[in-house]
Formats: sequence, C-alpha cells, structure tokens
Amino acid sequence: MALPLVWFADVLRAAGLRVVETPGWRTRTASGPPPRPVGVLEHHTATPASYARPAPTVQMCIDGRPDLDGPLCHAVIGYDGTVHVIAAGRANHAGKAKASGPNPGGDGNALYVGLEWDYAGNTPPSPQQYDAAVRANAAVLRHLGRTAESARAHAETSVTGKWDPGFAPGKTIDMARFRSDVAHAMTGAPTTALAPPGGIEAMAFADRFKDWAGNPQTVESWMNNVDRRVAELHHAVLGLQKSRIPGDSNETNGANLWPDTANWANQTLGHVVGIRAALANVQGVDPAAVADALRPALVELVGPVVAEAVHAALGADNQDQADAIVTELAQRLAGREAVA
Ligand SMILES: [Zn+2]
Repeated sequence: MALPLVWFADVLRAAGLRVVETPGWRTRTASGPPPRPVGVLEHHTATPASYARPAPTVQMCIDGRPDLDGPLCHAVIGYDGTVHVIAAGRANHAGKAKASGPNPGGDGNALYVGLEWDYAGNTPPSPQQYDAAVRANAAVLRHLGRTAESARAHAETSVTGKWDPGFAPGKTIDMARFRSDVAHAMTGAPTTALAPPGGIEAMAFADRFKDWAGNPQTVESWMNNVDRRVAELHHAVLGLQKSRIPGDSNETNGANLWPDTANWANQTLGHVVGIRAALANVQGVDPAAVADALRPALVELVGPVVAEAVHAALGADNQDQADAIVTELAQRLAGREAVA
C-alpha cells in the first residue's frame, strides 16, 4: 500500500520549488503509526551549511543517527533553497508533541510533516532557504486543507526544550512572522517577499533597482547574474586555482565566492537582528536605535573583506563593475532604502 505522503514531491514542485527526490523516498518509513498530518513542523539540523555546501545532512536524515533510526524528516531544505525529499512514511523528527496553535498534542511523528532546514541554527538560515520553507509550508498546508497557523516550530511543540529553528544561539526565529509569510504565500500572491528571519532586516531580495548598465534588476536576479559572471571568470581566468578570501578559514574559490559574500552580508544583518532581539526587554533602551548605531561598525568589519573578495574575483578589467557591486552591497548593509 502506498505510504501517506507519496504526493509530497509533486506538491512541492507545483509550488515552483526546486525538488530533489532521494532514491527510495516513496517507500521509506520509520516503524510506528503512519502519519496523518495536521501541520508542518520546522527544524534546523544544527549543521553549518553554505551555498557551497548547501545540504550536508541529507544522508544522515535518510540513515538516522546511532541513537535514532531514520528517516529523520520528510524533507531537507538546503541553504540554496533546494528541497530534498526524504520519506513518504513516518519520520522520527518530532517526538512527543504538546498542543500548539490549532494542532492537538500527541505523537508528533504522526501529527506533522517534518522539515529540516539544513543550517547551523545559531546563525540565520539563508534568504533562499527561508523562502523555500515558506513556499513548502504553504503548498503542504494547502494540500492538507489546513491554514498557515498549523505551521509550527519544534520549539513550540517540544516537551524537552528544543528551540529550533533558530537564528542566534538559543533564539527561535519569529514564528508569527513566518506564519504570516506562509499565509501570504497561500493566497497565491507572488512570493517575492523574501523575508529573512527576525523581520525588519529583510534583505529585500525583491527590491528593484537599476544596475551599473542601467538594466532593471531585483537584488536576487542581480546576484544570480553576478554569480554566473564570477563563475565564468573563474573558469576563464583563474582556472582551477583556488584563491583564499582574507578572513575566511574555508578554502573558497571564484565560483563560490559571490554566494559566500552574500552569506556574510546576511549574517551581518543577522547580528543586527540579534542585537535588537537581545535588547528588546531592557528598560529604557531603544533596541532599534542601538542596533542602528552598531550597524556601521558591523559594516566596517565585513566591508573590506567583501570589497577585496569581489575585486579579486572580477579581475582588473572589471573594476567598475566590482566597485558598483561593493557600493550596492555596502549601502544595503548600511540600511539604505531600496531604489525604485
Ligand atoms: Zn527539531
């Protein structure tokens, strides 16, 4: 007999997501009662991920851990927004669940479709990852006939003190904001509102502006174009030679340099979000003002690294382009409003 979630990959694809079906997912299940899901449960894998290494825990989610049999979720959402479908049956992701929102308590592995966002959790997920999670939740909940309120964090159902998915050490992402993003996606409106966890610092990937050549762009399309350009340069000029980025302990080459740069920018914004959250309950302090005051220092910290990396990747004959990129990024880090 077909397992309960055999529709999963098709539903995700219909929502426009990039889907990878891991071999055997349609018949993969843990032992125990099969799921009859009423909601979707969000997790982080607690494994550092990057655009260069976007889904490091797929195999572990299939195989399980020494202390817990696989599958460990129904899908892994990579740092690059790709969704890796893991299982159509029961998955060991939730444990015992307490009631949360409109969802009852009980056997969490029967009550929830489990999504593992593959990232560290003490840093924010990437904007692409967050957006994929929003769209995956919207698609699954619509299929189940449930509302966005049935999207819950493991932190909200755990009876053992889990705090995932997080954006800073011990800090769960803003689930009210997440559910509102899911609700927006469920209306069928264009899902261009790429809102990073924590809210306000949304990198505004959908913001429109004109690039150095005067072409209208969104931040996302522009970054994709630049990424391709960097990759081409890498192959044409740098060959397979690896170039280290100052301050980066990982070996990073031209092809994956720009995504990493964007990642740093995102993490810097994450610091600002964290500062605001940390100060939210301190009396007499305006957290937004403090975070804004600290923002230039963070920009100063990350700015030179970004500038050097971009100039190195684009080469001496593309300095104008590199300058434009560095300026645009610096302005975004500094909180400049989007240009119409
Ligand atoms: Zn979890």
